[in-house]
Amino acid sequence: MNDSISRAANLIASSKHLVAFTGAGISAESGIPTFRGPGGIWDKYDPVVLDIDYFIHHYEQVWPVIKDMFYTVIDRAQPNPAHYTLARWEKEGLLKAIITQNIDNLHQKAGSRNVIEYHGNTRQAVCLDCGRTVPLTKEILAQDVPRCPHCGGRLKPDFVFFGEPIPAEAAQKSLEHTLKSDIYLVIGTTGIIMPASLLPYEAKKNGATIIEINLNPSEYTGRITDIFLQGKAGEILPALDTEIRRIQ
Ligand code: NAD
Ligand code: ZN
Repeated sequence: MNDSISRAANLIASSKHLVAFTGAGISAESGIPTFRGPGGIWDKYDPVVLDIDYFIHHYEQVWPVIKDMFYTVIDRAQPNPAHYTLARWEKEGLLKAIITQNIDNLHQKAGSRNVIEYHGNTRQAVCLDCGRTVPLTKEILAQDVPRCPHCGGRLKPDFVFFGEPIPAEAAQKSLEHTLKSDIYLVIGTTGIIMPASLLPYEAKKNGATIIEINLNPSEYTGRITDIFLQGKAGEILPALDTEIRRIQ
């Protein structure tokens, strides 16, 4: 393991375009449950509530579930050492972009600036009836079933539901950084959710070295991962940081 940390740290320290691709696992130590695994969101809720057609047709039933699933817990969560390490690397010019599948805002809370939100965010909603974008304030979220403050219409959180396309700008920027990348850090993601899961394969095809951090092997591990660092993101990233400082 120590040998892998040292090899990974060397590659990161001498990288030209380091990109991090993150999933729910990076926020697990901040108390936000992942989708899969013990204690995961799917143990408690039916995935159908995140299906766009189901949401539209069961608006009043689904909103309280979505609030319970994401808003209550995300509002309280704080970044962990994994988020802070990535923010620090960006400030130092080492990390060029974070492509995240998460909707929890924790990279930004930790101070990261160039965060591409592949699956949108929980901070705002779009009104399905008048088309306006509405910040999801505490007042709006205090309603059992949130309604548009302008027209009383239905508000859809601005994250990507199953059956919805990826926001075009996020998709394009993600691909640009992925294709520029020489070292690609894949952190806390199973690699199952399409099309996000395809990005590391694009990076690999384009010649990047894939460094993966995960508690458990993922879809990538036996296939495209060059260095697998098994463990908690909140411990491995600070360990890499310490090693980078030691060799510099
Ligand atoms: P997932 O829930 O399917 O898998 C989580 C992965 O993280 C697993 O591979 C697991 O082994 C790993 N993991 C768990 N704890 C870890 C830790 N402490 N350190 C390192 N790795 C750890 O998540 P996914 O692959 O990201 O895909 C699910 C989708 O769920 C994404 O699209 C995302 O938008 C959404 N989601 C987001 C959040 C969030 O915003 N925090 C939370 C749950 C789900
Ligand atoms: Zn409206």
